[in-house]
Amino acid sequence: MQPFIHIDVANSEEVIPLLDARSRPLAGGTDMLPLMKEGIVAPERLINIKRAGDLRYIRADEDGLHIGALTTLDELDRHPDVRRDYTTLAQAAAEAASPQLRNMATLGGNLLQQARCWYYRGDFHCWLKGGELCHARDGRNEYHAIFDQSPCVAVYPSDPPAALMALEANLRIVGPQGARLVPVAEFLQPPSAERRTLHTLAPNELIVEVHVPKGPSGSVYLKAMDRATWAYALASVAVAANIRDGRAHNVRIVLGAVSNRPIRALAAEELVEGQLITPELARRAGETALAAARALEHNHYKLPLTRNLVAQALRDIMAG
Ligand SMILES: Cc1cc2nc3c(=O)[nH]c(=O)nc-3n(C[C@H](O)[C@H](O)[C@H](O)COP(=O)(O)OP(=O)(O)OC[C@H]3O[C@@H](n4cnc5c(N)ncnc54)[C@H](O)[C@@H]3O)c2cc1C
Ligand code: SF4
Repeated sequence: MQPFIHIDVANSEEVIPLLDARSRPLAGGTDMLPLMKEGIVAPERLINIKRAGDLRYIRADEDGLHIGALTTLDELDRHPDVRRDYTTLAQAAAEAASPQLRNMATLGGNLLQQARCWYYRGDFHCWLKGGELCHARDGRNEYHAIFDQSPCVAVYPSDPPAALMALEANLRIVGPQGARLVPVAEFLQPPSAERRTLHTLAPNELIVEVHVPKGPSGSVYLKAMDRATWAYALASVAVAANIRDGRAHNVRIVLGAVSNRPIRALAAEELVEGQLITPELARRAGETALAAARALEHNHYKLPLTRNLVAQALRDIMAG
């Protein structure tokens, strides 16, 4: 590991002047420290924000839900308002990692988690690290994308952001120029030649808050894993909708672990909007959601898996 300077800050205001391309915030450290140990990132300064108490809160009011960026996944999962009114988010937090990790892992850090692709985490100078080649595209790609959005086929690995997208959440981000509000759906973008990251945060910016507008009447998060716990999603689905008179309105369907970012299944949403969702319609929505998907050599299983997750999530939301 490269030598670095460690700086403690007591509140978020102290952070901004310290951030630049050579510095990184340190929150729970569950992704940052392994990346540093593996030599994948090497900041000269680590700005330890763990003690910035003004970034750690969950507040529910008439405007919706306000979550400080330092809130842990465990706190999200346990909060009664989140469980009752923003169920998909509590479920996504509960399904992430292990209990020990959820105690450390913060929502801000989770949004910025780097790709879990084994080439990226291993000793390969792949495209996402600034190299020429994506080794997974024609290599070992069991866990990779089925919606191709960039030269990199790694999937976005975090669970809660798919739920945040289904709930149409926004991030409050602060930088030297002040604050900006950006929808999670815009914040997460496929990497490009100019920006080889899974997000659009500038090096001198800090995520301060996640704001979730007042919740729809129902929401659900389903995650398929290759073992019962402590595993990344093979595929996941977040659905949110208002159920009125037995019909689903304002339906949002978000697919996770199938692309470089969570993606809205817009055609499937249109199909079920305003409808009484029968098991047959839920099945058709699953097919519609996956119509544009293309498997790589080793991940064909993701097509039926994701299709069935969509159908099950729609049946669950109708069942209440
Ligand atoms: C074994 C294992 C299994 C896991 N399984 C899952 C899983 O199933 N699902 C899942 O969703 N996640 C999973 N994770 C990932 C885990 O949830 C993330 O590592 C964690 O959420 C990151 O949060 P952190 O506070 O530890 O971030 P850190 O590691 O401290 O930081 C991560 C990145 O975010 C930056 N950062 C942190 N906070 C801010 C902020 N407020 N503003 C700007 N930049 C910031 C840091 O500079 C760094 O670049 C797993 C992790 C491990 C190690
Ligand atoms: S999928 Fe992305 S992270 Fe993995 S080898 Fe290809 S470019 Fe690198």
